[in-house]
Amino acid sequence: MTANKQVNVLIVDDIAADARLFQLVLADTEGIGEITVEPDYRQVMTHFEQKDTPAIVLFDVGACESAKLEKLHELSRDIDAYLIATSADSPKETVLEIFKAGAQDYLTKGHFSSDELLLKVKVGLLKYKEIEQLAWVKRTGDFETWRYDKASKEIYFSNKKNILQFLADDLENKDLFLEEMREVLENFITVKSSKKTIAFSLPEKEKYFLLNIDPSYKQENSTDVKGIIQDISDRKKLEKQMDQSHQKYIDIFANSSDGIYLSSLMGHPKECNKSGLEIFGFTEEDLLQSNIHRFFDGDKSNEVLVDIASRKPVKNREIEIIQEGGARRNCLISVVYFSDKTDVYTGIIRDITERKIAEKIQRTRVLEKESNQLKEEFIAGISHEMRTPMNAVVGLSNLLLDTDLDDEQRGYLKSIHYSSEQLLGILNDILDISSLQNGKTIFEHKDFDVHDMLNNLIHNLSYKVMDKEVRLELAIDPELPKILKGDKLRINQILFNLAGNAVKFTDKGYVKIACNLMGQSGDSILIKFAISDTGIGIPQEKQDAIFESFTRIQYKQRNYEGTGLGLAISKNLIEQQGGKIWVKSTPGKGSTFFFDMVLEIGSEPKIIEKKPEVNTIIVNPKRILIVEDNKMNQLVARKLLAKRWPEMEILLANNGQEALDLIDKDIDIVLMDLHMPVMDGYEATLAIRANPDSDISSLPILAMTADAQIQEGDKVKKNQLDGFIVKPFDPGLLYEKILLHLNQTEA
Ligand code: ADP
Repeated sequence: MTANKQVNVLIVDDIAADARLFQLVLADTEGIGEITVEPDYRQVMTHFEQKDTPAIVLFDVGACESAKLEKLHELSRDIDAYLIATSADSPKETVLEIFKAGAQDYLTKGHFSSDELLLKVKVGLLKYKEIEQLAWVKRTGDFETWRYDKASKEIYFSNKKNILQFLADDLENKDLFLEEMREVLENFITVKSSKKTIAFSLPEKEKYFLLNIDPSYKQENSTDVKGIIQDISDRKKLEKQMDQSHQKYIDIFANSSDGIYLSSLMGHPKECNKSGLEIFGFTEEDLLQSNIHRFFDGDKSNEVLVDIASRKPVKNREIEIIQEGGARRNCLISVVYFSDKTDVYTGIIRDITERKIAEKIQRTRVLEKESNQLKEEFIAGISHEMRTPMNAVVGLSNLLLDTDLDDEQRGYLKSIHYSSEQLLGILNDILDISSLQNGKTIFEHKDFDVHDMLNNLIHNLSYKVMDKEVRLELAIDPELPKILKGDKLRINQILFNLAGNAVKFTDKGYVKIACNLMGQSGDSILIKFAISDTGIGIPQEKQDAIFESFTRIQYKQRNYEGTGLGLAISKNLIEQQGGKIWVKSTPGKGSTFFFDMVLEIGSEPKIIEKKPEVNTIIVNPKRILIVEDNKMNQLVARKLLAKRWPEMEILLANNGQEALDLIDKDIDIVLMDLHMPVMDGYEATLAIRANPDSDISSLPILAMTADAQIQEGDKVKKNQLDGFIVKPFDPGLLYEKILLHLNQTEA
């Protein structure tokens, strides 16, 4: 209730001239707002159904017709306005009737001065405000009247409502309360404040009060101040709670990582938090001027918007949001409608773009892994399938070469033998690259003599350059330590690949292998190899592609053999040992392939004392068990063994079960195929190891496998096998392994 609030006046009069006169007098009066005229007294109530209800009514009762008086009565009963009755006629009895009907004042038409009317209206104004205040007090809760005696400083309460009952129970607080109230009032009086409501509180008790002071205290002779007091603690508590929950809402709104916005059902935004602005990619100012639904996109967005427009539930539905800059975000939207059926809703948007990307990557990874696994299984399968018949081809052609043949036959056979070995080479390359790409290759970390390795390499290459005018050169850095630690076989494989290519693509000039020490830190050295040739060279634009699998350059003049895998394998082998490979080449002049690698310096092997004489006697096998399901391979193995040890007894088992039936302690060694029907080699080996007779359980068992990827240390050791021979066998290697295992056990 502000002091300068304007009140409206209603003139109910069927005489237009009178109404006009009232209007003129009251116009521009301070505190008076709208002045309305209603000529039909029966329509008076309609003016109280609107928002700007009149506070003062000038009601013409005419010649005191009962219908009009009755209406006046009705007004006084139902509304809070200040009623001034007007009449042209004013005999005493009539005036009495008028007051009885509920008018608060009376004015005789035709006899009043404009001042008199103004005064009456002003009184009406004040009274109305009091009425309104009272109505407000009534609305807001309990109250109690008090009186403060200025002279004695005593406060008296009417005790009608006893809202201060709580004080009676607590004397200490009562004193506190009285003291506080007295202070407030004294303060009020001395500053001669015009304030009529003063709030004060006992915060420790969570008690809040409102004092309303009767304006009459200002009168000169008044000895006291009067008013009402209200206990507004409950309202305060409620307000506090409201504040808290409002604060909670504000906190959630402001700090939520979800975007939260308030918008009309048609998409006109009213408010949006920081996260929301980030999701929409807008400043608050710009967003509030656009239609928020415009940024919704994706298949399901339309359905969501239709549901929002008809206040249907929307919970965690996927939509896309197109940001101001055009970028797209994947989001989940949930919507809360207000229960009072307003057209405003709250939208909660969760940005799941990163989650979606992560899920996609995860899915691709799983797919990739699955397809790699399939590829690997496929290659391993093919390897087995191809190696088994090749074993027969290589083995049997080896055996045939040792028989009496005429020159033509020998020539054909040599071609078969050569081709099958080449086929085997390709197969080995494919298996190599597959295992490298799957990160399955394990590198050794053993001492080796790098000078020996390089000299051997040159020796092996010398066969390849025999028919060419190509010189082989080796340049080893004198600073390079002799013994290094690493995987000698793999480094040799890389060098052989690169030098083999150099020889292949060079007809004249030289092929040079250089090895340089580039740096040293503690026990680690950086070593760089360079393989140069004076061959056909590689065009600049092909120099990157040649390192990829199956890339070969086509030459019009000549066809070079190869699969295009050598460099891919070398690159993988180098990189997996922490090095890198690169090439410099000029077509027609030659190429140099470089690779570097960090290796550790190894230690010279200790000189081993000569073994006593007895140990130098080699024990040859007398009884051997071959476990193999493939008849061809049985034949090859049998023939090869018989060739070396003609006196030896050979037992044959077609599968693991037959091997268990045949086994006895007089057998010297078992050659065990791994993949067999009925019982495979792993199972048979475990069964032999479990034999209670230690002479049987400790028999040396060598796996015969077509799986070129088999490595010592993994499947072999886990399955208690002593070693393995890869099919198709190299006869020398087969004899060597048998002797090695036989003599190790015997010694
Ligand atoms: P390939 O088994 O075909 O030799 P590589 O991967 O070893 O496969 O080599 C890929 C291609 O790179 C070769 O086919 C050849 O065109 C080219 N290349 C490799 N080394 C040399 C070289 N020293 N001189 C010329 N070309 C070479």
